[in-house]
Amino acid sequence: MYYQQTIEKEISCVGIGLHSGKKVNMRLLPAPPDTGIIFRRVDKGGIEIPAKALLVQKVDFATSLSRGETSVKTVEHLLATFYGLQIDNVFVELDSPEVPIMDGSAASFVFLVEEAGIKVQEKPRFYLKILTPLEHKEGDKFIKVVPANELRITYYVYYNHALISEQTLTLPITTEVFKDQIAPARTFGFLYEVEYLRKIGLTLGGSKDNAIVLDESKILNDHLRFPNEFVRHKMLDLLGDLSLCGFQMKAHIYVHKGGHSLHTRMAQIIKENIDSQQTILLDDSPSYQATQPFA
Ligand SMILES: [Zn+2]
Repeated sequence: MYYQQTIEKEISCVGIGLHSGKKVNMRLLPAPPDTGIIFRRVDKGGIEIPAKALLVQKVDFATSLSRGETSVKTVEHLLATFYGLQIDNVFVELDSPEVPIMDGSAASFVFLVEEAGIKVQEKPRFYLKILTPLEHKEGDKFIKVVPANELRITYYVYYNHALISEQTLTLPITTEVFKDQIAPARTFGFLYEVEYLRKIGLTLGGSKDNAIVLDESKILNDHLRFPNEFVRHKMLDLLGDLSLCGFQMKAHIYVHKGGHSLHTRMAQIIKENIDSQQTILLDDSPSYQATQPFA
């Protein structure tokens, strides 16, 4: 079996919120087994908000979690990092409502976690094994989760823009694939959208330093990190959103024109089916990723 993991020591960083534009201090701390990922708003007396699908509050242009009046926004890239690096337990302290956007990708978070170091804990990790396909549709968009022995994603995006139009990619999600092929992919936005979002008080911190920005015909940034950086970023968002079901998974996930709403809804559907043994099994014998020794 494989064991749960946390970080070796605490580590912090400073950044700005993509939507608020405000400076935020973030500190990651090791957490005991079975804690999961818990956000802590230190500016609100330390109110804790666990990363759980049932606490998803808003999914307009980023995923937010809330508990009562208190929320944490734009959690997806950080959560994807924990998921991709197989970190099960961490406390995330923030002194503002939004996780810092850094460069719009998860590369800085991967760097932070690796600087802190990864610690193997004494309790086994359970994996969600999908036994019966699950599907959710919203208009012409869908997300489908089918049985597989390892986590694998097939993602299709379509935008009415000459530089993106269609991109499809299938990747097995191992720690190495996550670090090299998904984490560096940046978020993106269209100029017309940015102007509208600013009017309603969103993306106030957004710039070419933390997003790929496109106008009608071109990219305003100097270069792309991958020719298909857009679909890779969608995979990053998907991992962060799906992690809200609380378990690493063994399944092949197909997404067609997805977004946070579709992703987080599937995390909720998975959560609702955990009790039904016909659909989902909790399994402690992972079939891939020899990142830890067998015990
Ligand atoms: Zn994103």
